[in-house]
Amino acid sequence: MPYDYRMHHRSLIIAAVMSAAASGCATSPSVTAPTNSAAQLDSISEPYVKLVLALGKHDADYVDAYYGPPQWKAQADSVKLPLQEIATRASALVARLGGIPRPADEMLRLRHSYFTAQLNALAARVAMLQGRKLTFDEESRALYNAVSPSHPESYFQQIIDSLGALLPGDGTVGERYERYRAQFVIPPAKLDTVFRIALAECKARTLRHMQLPPGEQFRIEYVKNKSWSGYNWYQGNYQSLIQINTDLPIAIDRAVDLACHEGYPGHHAYNVLLEQHLVKQRGWLEYTVYPLFSPQSLIAEGSANYGIEMAFPGRERIEYEKRALWPLAGLDPSGAEQYYRILDMAGRLAYAGNEAARRYLDGRINAAEAATWLNKYALYSPTRAQQRLRFIDQYRSYVINYNLGKDMVRDYVEKAAAGNSERRWQTFTALLTSPRLPGDLK
Ligand SMILES: [Zn+2]
Repeated sequence: MPYDYRMHHRSLIIAAVMSAAASGCATSPSVTAPTNSAAQLDSISEPYVKLVLALGKHDADYVDAYYGPPQWKAQADSVKLPLQEIATRASALVARLGGIPRPADEMLRLRHSYFTAQLNALAARVAMLQGRKLTFDEESRALYNAVSPSHPESYFQQIIDSLGALLPGDGTVGERYERYRAQFVIPPAKLDTVFRIALAECKARTLRHMQLPPGEQFRIEYVKNKSWSGYNWYQGNYQSLIQINTDLPIAIDRAVDLACHEGYPGHHAYNVLLEQHLVKQRGWLEYTVYPLFSPQSLIAEGSANYGIEMAFPGRERIEYEKRALWPLAGLDPSGAEQYYRILDMAGRLAYAGNEAARRYLDGRINAAEAATWLNKYALYSPTRAQQRLRFIDQYRSYVINYNLGKDMVRDYVEKAAAGNSERRWQTFTALLTSPRLPGDLK
């Protein structure tokens, strides 16, 4: 599958309700000094959430979801903390974390690292808003704790040459690829049906291995004029709003991609599991807020993209699509084998999008040159390249979370599973129910 299209959508995260707040889990840190690590970590939640909400007042994209105590949000809205004050409080919280002994329990140890990494990323975002210039790699390391590998043009050109041998017709490989793919667009009138069937299939396959709480559900909306192709807005209480952008034609492979990524076992499942296991069961209120520009996004996007392979390992996807989705979309399933051969090859260009973003954001090429680069090496049509540039302008080095995130999550899961398919699901589910961040995947 072409990475280009998959890269457009971002997500969302986080879950749940405030029974924990009501029961007094998040006490004011200043009243009494907690004596053990667990209680000391509990006392970080409230000031952490409040700092994320405070930064959200300066950066409209920063708070992707919040379903914690409403009075914390009301307070952040009424007192707009200056950036410098947010920076000071963040560094004081990091110092406080440094004084908390590293817990023996693995979940608590991960929670300790989570707070530290998320707060360091918050401080970096504050510095960026204050005018600090970071290179693309410095920024992705500061915000997502990861750096995307670099590839020269020749690396992508080799893949493009191989792709050229598979594609019929005349013109550049990019033109032929676009023309070829246009034959497999889902007719707009059938989009909703195809997408709902794909979601039901992704859900059924996920529930064979993963337990989700009763009542979890989502709504679907079709929207326009967005820089992304899909978005999961988590609402708390096990509910999501999934939006699908219909600005550009949606090819048949995107049905399963989007359904797994935004739904099951991707963002919706992740948010539901975090709400159930961390917020409701443990009272960890830091999970009621989701700061988009933070290491958690690499886990979210990486697991959502790898989730497609989790739900449809090996040949299962193509067999299912030929049997169910292609006929539903009015497409001839006899073309599916060649279609996925070509998409698999084009998928190897995934990192070309990161490369374009890196060169563009580092000021080595301008917007027009970046669009040309996306067209030439990532095989984006001119229209998609423009949409992609809008995404890069808005979300910057966030782009690495999709492909590098997927590769990191896959490596982590596959290594732990050692070829055992049930252990693969156990590891994947454990990742989605823990505070594990990119630095803990090694
Ligand atoms: Zn996403």
